[in-house]
Amino acid sequence: VPPVVAVVGRPNVGKSTLVNRVLGRREAVVEDVPGVTRDRVSYEADWSGRRLTIVDTGGWLPDATGLAAAVAEQARLAVELADVVLFVVDATVGATDVDEAVVDILRRSGKPVLLVANKVDDAATELDAAALWSLGIGEPHPVSALHGRGSGDLLDAVLAAL
Ligand code: GDP
Ligand code: MG
Repeated sequence: VPPVVAVVGRPNVGKSTLVNRVLGRREAVVEDVPGVTRDRVSYEADWSGRRLTIVDTGGWLPDATGLAAAVAEQARLAVELADVVLFVVDATVGATDVDEAVVDILRRSGKPVLLVANKVDDAATELDAAALWSLGIGEPHPVSALHGRGSGDLLDAVLAAL
């Protein structure tokens, strides 16, 4: 099995959009309304000649009660199977309590984590990305999953972390 890259974070931060960006295809389901159950969460991708398994999360815990609990549980499961974790935060919203809870789980995992500051669609939003240093898990990687901005640099960072 190629190295596993798990994508975690709150609903609506753009995880599935980022997965599609990495795949170069539209396979992961992008939802304006989060929480719909999907069967398929694992995809094979190629980047610079490296094969990767990308695991999308979200909407696959129908029994979870409460957003924070559901996101935390997803993070726990994803971390177990991942070689590298992409923790996606919406830079235009900033760090929330749920994000902080996920940080605790990721820190304890000991797995390499890359902090993705998503929805940085333009240079003006770079400052919002920099504010995510406050999460204390290292450098925020600014990307626009929707438009592709920064995604090449992010993937290079993923390969470097493997
Ligand atoms: P998920 O719940 O984390 O998987 O989020 P989705 O990928 O389903 O995206 C949620 C919403 O955010 C959709 O309306 C996306 O089009 C939007 N979105 C995702 N990435 C970006 C981005 O880089 N910039 C902007 N402006 N919107 C984005
Ligand atoms: Mg999704």
